[in-house]
Amino acid sequence: MAPPRKTVDLIVPCYNEGPSLARFFEETCAQINKMPQYAFRFIFVDDGSADDTLAIISDYAREYENVNYISFSRNFGKEAGIYAGLKNASADYAAVIDADLQHPPRMLADMLYALDEEGYDSCSARRVSREGEPRIKSFFARAFYRLINRMSDVDIADGAVDYRMMTKQMVGAILELSEVQRFSKGIFAWVGFKTKWIEFHNVERIAGETKFSFWKLFKYALEGITAFTTVPLRFASFAGVAFSFISMILILYELIKYMFIGTDAPGYPSTFIMLLLIGGIMLLSCGILGEYLARMYMETKRRPIYIEKRTSFHRGGAEGDVESGVESGAEGSAEGAGE
Ligand code: UDP
Ligand code: MG
Repeated sequence: MAPPRKTVDLIVPCYNEGPSLARFFEETCAQINKMPQYAFRFIFVDDGSADDTLAIISDYAREYENVNYISFSRNFGKEAGIYAGLKNASADYAAVIDADLQHPPRMLADMLYALDEEGYDSCSARRVSREGEPRIKSFFARAFYRLINRMSDVDIADGAVDYRMMTKQMVGAILELSEVQRFSKGIFAWVGFKTKWIEFHNVERIAGETKFSFWKLFKYALEGITAFTTVPLRFASFAGVAFSFISMILILYELIKYMFIGTDAPGYPSTFIMLLLIGGIMLLSCGILGEYLARMYMETKRRPIYIEKRTSFHRGGAEGDVESGVESGAEGSAEGAGE
């Protein structure tokens, strides 16, 4: 008898991906059919789409045995989608892949090779070009990766995307980090394990448009920095020391000047400038404190990471599509489901 085939779960977060899904499914199936030695399974996560995404994926789930889906009660964000997919994954390997074909499915074979033959625990894709992306977006993205790598212990490759395959063991480690405000790129790096990076050139999305506006990306960056480093909190202390030092020198200077030359009225501009500067730094420090405090506040509520509305996963022996009750994403939040 042939040894049992290794299983692979493909987690696909989808938010209004109606126009891309058919091509994504077709191309991914074409690739996985080339690898009969593995048993693939799709886990589509509908992140509260307003278009026909849910209809399409539930059709696939009815038609194909290896397709499952989870549908959220509203849009919870891609991070929640990834978490839900990983939580429902049970295969030997799990991979996260975008639905817009910006993550080439042909790379799945390379990823499997890295895990199966080369002994890596995970294999992740890295974009080496950003063609087709607005210049300003690339600039800020690069600046963000430089900043987060310098400030935090986690090391995130520039151009790293959320296209990654990992072992069941690593999935287990990721799920242990049950924080509500998730920054997957940091989490993947934080849990450790041996990761192989494979490079690819940027591909434009096949249909629809990006779900990440500049503002959403800015919030995402802030999430990443606050989740993985507390260095900004020290900024106030450094600024405080620096300003105390400067003011001491200025006081001495004024004192000496007063003793030898006497006093005169001018000095308003410098006073004014110093006031503005110190005021600005103080407000900025308060703002940084506030960012961390706000995150602590949200985290202490222990709200579920996502709420499931429908799924094709058979629960408790139910048949077909299951209308789930409140399926909380976070571990241990079941007790708090009354909120
Ligand atoms: N996505 C999601 N929830 C969101 C936003 C995006 O599940 O709130 C999914 C989206 O459907 C896609 C993937 O995350 O499969 C990446 O999104 P997108 O292509 O818009 O991001 P970009 O590639 O432009 O960074
Ligand atoms: Mg995309």
